[in-house]
Amino acid sequence: MTGKKLNGTVIVTYRCNARCSMCSRYKAPSLPEEEISAETIKKLPPMYFTNITGGEPFIRTDLRDIVGELAKKSDRIVISTNGFFVDRIIALCREFPQVGIRISIEGLEATNDAIRGLPDGFKRGYEALRRLKEMGIKDIGFGMTVQDRNAPDIMPLYEISNELGMEFATASLHNSFYFVENKNIIKDRPMVAENFEKLINALLNSSSPKKWFRAYFNHGLINYIYGQERLLPCDMSFDTFFIDPYGDVMPCNGTREKEVMGNLNEQTWEELWNSPQAEAVRRKVRGCKRQCWMIGSVSPAMHKYIWKPAGWVLWHKMRFWTKKKYSMYEIPAVRDLRDKRVTKEELDKRSTCEREGEVSDGLSEKSRSRLAEKGREDRLW
Ligand code: SF4
Repeated sequence: MTGKKLNGTVIVTYRCNARCSMCSRYKAPSLPEEEISAETIKKLPPMYFTNITGGEPFIRTDLRDIVGELAKKSDRIVISTNGFFVDRIIALCREFPQVGIRISIEGLEATNDAIRGLPDGFKRGYEALRRLKEMGIKDIGFGMTVQDRNAPDIMPLYEISNELGMEFATASLHNSFYFVENKNIIKDRPMVAENFEKLINALLNSSSPKKWFRAYFNHGLINYIYGQERLLPCDMSFDTFFIDPYGDVMPCNGTREKEVMGNLNEQTWEELWNSPQAEAVRRKVRGCKRQCWMIGSVSPAMHKYIWKPAGWVLWHKMRFWTKKKYSMYEIPAVRDLRDKRVTKEELDKRSTCEREGEVSDGLSEKSRSRLAEKGREDRLW
């Protein structure tokens, strides 16, 4: 046992009812009978934060049992969802009003529904948020995965979040076994960065310290889409972990292939966390060059290396007082592309996008062979 509380993400299912353009997980679902049970959840260590995610977590009709077990061992729980199963979300929050809900909304209605491929996706997500707010649920918000198609919707969505008094989280395109993707890439980097820049200035201009730190996160997203080294070290697997529907404990969801530290169905937490296999994965993390910038790995790093984002915030707030705004050209690579010292193709090569090569899906043999029998497009939820 590490002796201190950890940050955990529980992937309760790989089944998903959405058809997102940047995530092919729906093509590689887990089998319901193989998915992590509440009994296995009981073996997890104490956590200061737990994210429940999928696939779509609310596809699981026994989600309340899982949340019930996690509530006993985690100081805070946030569920990431596409917001489709409105009644299930409301019922769960009635029972666990302290649980946080983050609904993925990829833009205004037309953009969202085109990207997520979910009938009435925007209307349902919005309805869920509205009803949660009416119920007095405090920890609610929405998040978007910024890409070429929806970057112009960043500011309209941010304004909606302010009107509703909710959190607004951003991400960008990543490739990994978790997303069953290896071809995601931002095509028009300057256009996407300009939209991030507007958001960063709006966040810095607010009176909320939390939003100032979100500005830093978004600054890191511009840095990431230009293929640059992470602004903060990645310490996944040291005090942070992911667990997948098969009970496999992993450092993160950003690796090309699934990296397994141990299996919680078969081992105790102490055995797997202190095993040579876990140590071998930690050595790989130390040498990892994928440079992800996802909230799951960045949020713990921002807390651990607080002086770096805090210094950035302080510097930019001081500049604001002298009417100097944040500029995306603070990042050398952004200037280099503008001034033609680097080409778009050279930046493309620094991304994790692969032109060739099989994509990995992290499925169990049983899930994969059942999928082969049924066909990849068949819905298993
Ligand atoms: S950079 Fe960190 S989060 Fe990304 S794949 Fe490597 S170890 Fe995982």
